[in-house]
Amino acid sequence: MREPTDPAAPALARAEALFADLSLATVTAWKAAHPGRPAIGHLPVYAPRELIDACGALPVGITGGGDQIDIVKGDACFQSYICHLPRSTVELGLGGQLDPLDGMVFPSTCDVIRNLSGIWQILFPSKLSFYLDLPQSFEDAGARFYRLQLEELADKLLQRGGLPLTPERLAASLRRYNENRAAIARLYQLRAEAPWQVPADECFVVVKAGNLLPPETHTSLVEEYLDGARRRQRRAEDRIRVVIVGSFCETPPLGLLRTLERAGCYVVGDDLNSNARWIQGDIDPGADPLEALVQAYLEQSTWSSVRYEHEKPRAEHLVEWVRRVRADGVIFAAPSFCDPALLDQPPLSKALEAAQIPFTLFKYAENTGQFQSIREQVGTFSDSLRLWGAA
Ligand code: SF4
Repeated sequence: MREPTDPAAPALARAEALFADLSLATVTAWKAAHPGRPAIGHLPVYAPRELIDACGALPVGITGGGDQIDIVKGDACFQSYICHLPRSTVELGLGGQLDPLDGMVFPSTCDVIRNLSGIWQILFPSKLSFYLDLPQSFEDAGARFYRLQLEELADKLLQRGGLPLTPERLAASLRRYNENRAAIARLYQLRAEAPWQVPADECFVVVKAGNLLPPETHTSLVEEYLDGARRRQRRAEDRIRVVIVGSFCETPPLGLLRTLERAGCYVVGDDLNSNARWIQGDIDPGADPLEALVQAYLEQSTWSSVRYEHEKPRAEHLVEWVRRVRADGVIFAAPSFCDPALLDQPPLSKALEAAQIPFTLFKYAENTGQFQSIREQVGTFSDSLRLWGAA
């Protein structure tokens, strides 16, 4: 229950309204204020929003329909044994909710998103459909390849009413997204320090609001929420501290996040809204901002199941993360049929066992409606850790 004088309530209410804005009224309003300029959707997990923004377009994060829509037509496009996100994305497209978008960027996250990009081209031939191949080589060839991809995307945006990509505009955009990431990092820091001030579902909707907003508008929203959350008069409860892993793409329903905390957990880390936190730290525009954006992907990306492992095993990153935020355990929460998340669970869980970090796991879909069994499972996990220190 939210206290009547909750100082974070106004910012949270705006974020919740954006969360419910599946028909993209916010994007329509932005386009009315910027005549002729395009709005470009992008699927999870990572897309170079800085470049889209620098080309005078509005980057719009699309993460499916959650539990807010019924799937009728979307199911017809996909086999049953894949995740839910592409179905609800097609449903939104065919239902007209994505009409404000002039195009869509499909990052090379997984085979499902690759297939979705093909279906999208067939269903919406008049819209830009850009498949963004992210580099798998982290040497010079990967950097050159990725730069060409970004230049091609900038050309496509220009053809759709965007502005020419200039170093000045890209540098300004990099700085605005630097500020945005820094604000989000402060929010996550407060949650790690005092998770009773920042519930998991609130953190999720506040960060997700950035999917529909220019970066500076979202930064103000995050700062306003953060200020309110800091001023809350709440006391810590006897709960375990957990990190959620595996929810980087198709997102769990809000009710599920609330269920985890009601079952006796404080979420002190997660991989939700990964796009907003993908790049670690600031990007220095330097003399060549496009090269800076390329190098940021190669050198400053977070670890992820959808990114080439490169120099350090993902399992090591996970153990370090758990220790850094002083988590008592890990919850593997992955979408059903999500190959990247589920294939990573065995090596990640093996590393947790070796480090004597307890974990539990379950699967969900974005429209999962019943949480009772998850509540019982996580409640047992929480009780075990509080009583005996190990599940
Ligand atoms: S939820 Fe997993 S399988 Fe589905 S689109 Fe996302 S990364 Fe791919």
